Amino acid sequence: MILVVQPNATEKEINHIMERVQELGFTPHLIRGEQRTVIGVVGDETRPSGEALEAIPGIEQALRILKPFKLASREFSSKDRVVQVGKLSIGGGSLALIAGPCAVESREGLDRIAASVKKAGANLLRGGAFKPRTSPYSFQGLGEEGLKILRDIGNKYDMPIVTEVMDVRQVELISRYTDMFQIGARNMQNFDLLREIGQTRIPVLLKRGMSATVKDLLMSAEYILAGGNENVVLCERGVRSFEDSTRNMLDLSAVPNVKGQSHLPIIVDPSHATGRPDLIPAMCSASIAAGADGVHVEVHDCPEKALSDGPQALLPDRFTKLAVELRTIASALGKVIPA
Ligand code: PEP
Ligand code: MN
Repeated sequence: MILVVQPNATEKEINHIMERVQELGFTPHLIRGEQRTVIGVVGDETRPSGEALEAIPGIEQALRILKPFKLASREFSSKDRVVQVGKLSIGGGSLALIAGPCAVESREGLDRIAASVKKAGANLLRGGAFKPRTSPYSFQGLGEEGLKILRDIGNKYDMPIVTEVMDVRQVELISRYTDMFQIGARNMQNFDLLREIGQTRIPVLLKRGMSATVKDLLMSAEYILAGGNENVVLCERGVRSFEDSTRNMLDLSAVPNVKGQSHLPIIVDPSHATGRPDLIPAMCSASIAAGADGVHVEVHDCPEKALSDGPQALLPDRFTKLAVELRTIASALGKVIPA
């Protein structure tokens, strides 16, 4: 439920509303807008005390949200959320250009790739230190050593960093190094992990599961938001389909679909969606044109030697050209890709 506070309500009255909501067994989330103050209330509204919420003095209107996701819903906020990752804003017309190798493989290798993507205009450096591999015999990532390298190289090129967290037991360690967590497709419904990340205030890139619906994705975001972490960026990365000439099927309609249903930013990852460097640039352009708040691209300077996802890596030169194309599209839409 959303409680719209009367415009002339005093601080004391607002505090009273917050206390009363808690007394009734619900969790309040206060949002102060420029025009209005609203309180998002989560809990089981079907209980008899739901009606009592509407009777609290100082409330102008109580709106029930029937959707199963509430804090993530468009009803909760008509204004688009802007998520801050270091100095980078994602959303509200400011686009993320996330680039880097699938995995951190070595200090020298990441340094070379970071230098090239930074020069091209990428504003967030990615690299996995803990890798969710289909085979237990494939390269699993460098672990903490990879986190150290990613942090150092991020600092060297003045880029915030994003890296994947796969397990609740990794949250504390990774939080010491990263600016943004990535929750991968395979973990989108790892509810314990979502809850744990919800307890932090570190921004999260939440990827859509390979067989998850848009509603499932928003429900997973709700877990993180319900814990009090408001810094969620969604990511469309393709879903499984019968098509076998691409790695997954990119659901570009997820972008405007999410935007209609949620105030959260959404970016697109054409690398994992298509698995094909010949398709990635066109799909990046289409993503920005469709209203995405950024794109996520795997880049490697020697794809044939990459320890994971080599076949889908874009070469640095192609990425540089792509970044120019994306800036042109962004500016036509009145958006920017900040440095
Ligand atoms: C990745 O970003 O390297 C990755 C494993 O992505 P996804 O979870 O989308 O497969
Ligand atoms: Mn990858």
